[in-house]
Amino acid sequence: MFATVGDESHPVSKSVVLANGVVMPHIGFGCAMVDGDDQEAVVHAALEAGFRLFDNASLYANEEGIGRALRSGGVPRNELFVSSKLRNKEQGYDLALKGFADSLERLGLDYLDLYLIHWPMPRRGLFCETWRALERLYDEGAVRAIGVSNFEAHHLEELMKGCTVRPMVNQLEFNPYLTIKPLREYCAREGIQVEAWFPLGGPAGEGLGPKPKTDRIPLLENSTILDVAAACGRTPAQVVLRWELQSGVIPLPKSARPERIRENFNVFDFELGAEEMRRIDLLDCDGRMGPSPDECHDMF
Ligand code: NDP
Repeated sequence: MFATVGDESHPVSKSVVLANGVVMPHIGFGCAMVDGDDQEAVVHAALEAGFRLFDNASLYANEEGIGRALRSGGVPRNELFVSSKLRNKEQGYDLALKGFADSLERLGLDYLDLYLIHWPMPRRGLFCETWRALERLYDEGAVRAIGVSNFEAHHLEELMKGCTVRPMVNQLEFNPYLTIKPLREYCAREGIQVEAWFPLGGPAGEGLGPKPKTDRIPLLENSTILDVAAACGRTPAQVVLRWELQSGVIPLPKSARPERIRENFNVFDFELGAEEMRRIDLLDCDGRMGPSPDECHDMF
């Protein structure tokens, strides 16, 4: 029933169906660092471009403004797919219930479409207990789908050992420099949809957390990406996002610029061939820009 991760290209439509039957957009708008005076204009530009999935998190400290912009954006609530994440310091059963309620209040909504545990924080040993709170929220109808972010296969195995609701989504750092194929294969086998953070390689070559900057060529300037883009008559960002869609992943690109926001959504009317997909697959260099999930303990 679920897509496998092989060398083949996945058929692309504008939405995917999660394991519990919930329909989710195949591309989303990343809300991290979408703040400041133009926040509302940026969110409205994303709505106008066609984005319906908005990826937020308590950590981004902008849920209030994003929620306000979504509510004034003219798109009915049932056409939006609003997602947020539990902050690491709010793990634990009671804190997680409160963390969810606080996010909902800040967003000004009465339910979420998707709620994720932001990082496993394995040394704290709380993610299974935290998951029970998400299961309760799901059972009560406060959220339509629940999942995790930055979970490796062994975290997922531990979580699923005692769960009554399986995670439907895993949001991971993913792009042509970091293709995490074994983990995506595991998620596909388990019916867990993968979403991509840093889908365009992240903000201007910056990493996340204390990791030093890399001297790797920025993804959108990579010669293979530029070649394929020239051959398709598309931009480098569109080629990368299309490769992610055809890889069966939901990309969450962020931009604060209306013309780029439109460009990033405009990826459903062309297709990469098998050879183009293969050339981009070969760019994998385990090029992680964020912390590894097993090493992220005290951050965020
Ligand atoms: P992205 O890979 O989306 O890159 C964003 C950067 O690319 C910005 O500097 C943006 O600049 C630039 N950009 C956007 N579109 C284009 C384009 N068409 N051409 C050239 N440059 C472009 O990284 P993000 O850090 O924003 O990650 C995306 C989302 O993933 C976040 O917003 C967040 O929702 C999620 N995330 C989740 C994490 C997790 O742990 N679960 C961790 C990090 C992110 P400009 O704005 O000027 O256009």
